[in-house]
Amino acid sequence: MRVCESSSNIKDYGFPELQPGQVIDDAIDFMIGMDVNTKLDLPFVASPNGMSISVSLVPCGDNLTVLISDVSDTTEQRRKLQQAANENELLVERQKKLMAELERASRKLEQKNRQLEEASRLQTSFLSGVSHEFRTPLTSIIGYTNLVLNNLQKTGDEQKGLADCNNDYLSAVQRSSKHLMSLVENLLDHGKLDSDEIVLKPKPNSLKQLIDDVELVLRPLSETKGIEFNVIPPYNETATVMVDDSRLRQCLINLIGNAIKFTDQGSVTVDFNYANDTLQVSILDTGIGISEEDMNKIRLPFYQASGTGKIGTGLGLTITERIINMMGGALDIFSELGEGTLVKFNVHASDLGSLDLDSATRELIKTKSLDILLAEDDPFIADLMILMLKDWNIDVTHVVNGALAVEAVQSHNFDLIIMDIHMPVMSGYEAVLELNRIGSTIPVIVMSASAVEADQKRAAELGCSAYLTKPVDVQEIIETADILLSQ
Ligand code: ADP
Repeated sequence: MRVCESSSNIKDYGFPELQPGQVIDDAIDFMIGMDVNTKLDLPFVASPNGMSISVSLVPCGDNLTVLISDVSDTTEQRRKLQQAANENELLVERQKKLMAELERASRKLEQKNRQLEEASRLQTSFLSGVSHEFRTPLTSIIGYTNLVLNNLQKTGDEQKGLADCNNDYLSAVQRSSKHLMSLVENLLDHGKLDSDEIVLKPKPNSLKQLIDDVELVLRPLSETKGIEFNVIPPYNETATVMVDDSRLRQCLINLIGNAIKFTDQGSVTVDFNYANDTLQVSILDTGIGISEEDMNKIRLPFYQASGTGKIGTGLGLTITERIINMMGGALDIFSELGEGTLVKFNVHASDLGSLDLDSATRELIKTKSLDILLAEDDPFIADLMILMLKDWNIDVTHVVNGALAVEAVQSHNFDLIIMDIHMPVMSGYEAVLELNRIGSTIPVIVMSASAVEADQKRAAELGCSAYLTKPVDVQEIIETADILLSQ
């Protein structure tokens, strides 16, 4: 292809000046190999001087017209458009990222919200559960004490047969108090679950007494519901075993209490076995049972299966399992929804043979005439202790604070001091410090409502001989006194 003619401004684009007859391929690169019959548009081509040009080839008979025009502006616009598109894409990407982050944050928030709602739901049902569970034994305690009071006001012929009646009423009060005590213990223990503050205090116990005690607390509950309650004692129920009876009672009341609570028809059967220093208990009920899904969660604190229509705290199983583990045992639960539940556990309890604890202690103490100083600021607890100890022929001198206790020790020779911790004027600990300073050697039993191990440690560091947690029962005081005074 040769040049016919060219416009003069072709140089402005950086092309060489074209001479008619010149071979076009030699002068303009993009014409190499072009066909004279081909119509072609090359929209964005770089000219030799770097200008953006568009080239159109238009066949015209035997000739080919080449139109070159400057498209720098369009290219710039295109570049800007491209840049804007790129920036837009970047923004969209960023927006997508932000949206994803927002979605993640909102999912987290939703989850937190659900957790908070669940926690608040659990707290509400926990509080209503606690107040309900407390109300049941409290109603019974208040009701029966009123009945006793009414009986005591009767005179003359009306008095006949009331002693037996009062006996029954007071037994009911005692049962409900024990039930109440294990509920309180559940609540207090919950705070201790993560620490090592649950301390076991094993002591010799009559197996029969323990089982009778639990049966006495729970039988009325089964009677109210009209379900059968069977207790099968071990063949060697007369054995005396070494175990923390209040903790074991707490576990039994929790588990058997659950069996009765979740059974509306049929029966609850508790089977005790005792062999090789191990007490095995199985509790079978014909109640509502537990679904597979709930089974995985019921040992968690506060968890209660929904739709049971029963009230509780959701703490019983958590705490019971912890105590059972501490006693060297394990808790197993088998259940089928609608069929019933079987709960089995075992705990270590050394066999001490057949020992009559009650009369053994009674004889030992009865041979001594004890003189005890009681420092206690609560008048009700003090009166109760004085009455209980009088029953054992023990003389009690009562003072209401630590300072008076120190004064009393300086003017009288006591066999033993029972010291409350929290008292006005001078606390129990301060009094013990003072007693140590003046060289008193009288054994001190600390009696406190605090079951916290730090308090027990403090008492031991001050040289106190024993630490009893309230409510202390008189048997516990007598046994401790017996051990201390025979040393
Ligand atoms: P609470 O009895 O106060 O609700 P627990 O921790 O003792 O708390 O029990 C947790 C849950 O386990 C109960 O709410 C109940 O759903 C389930 N559960 C426990 N024992 C039984 C049982 N014998 N039969 C059916 N469900 C039971």
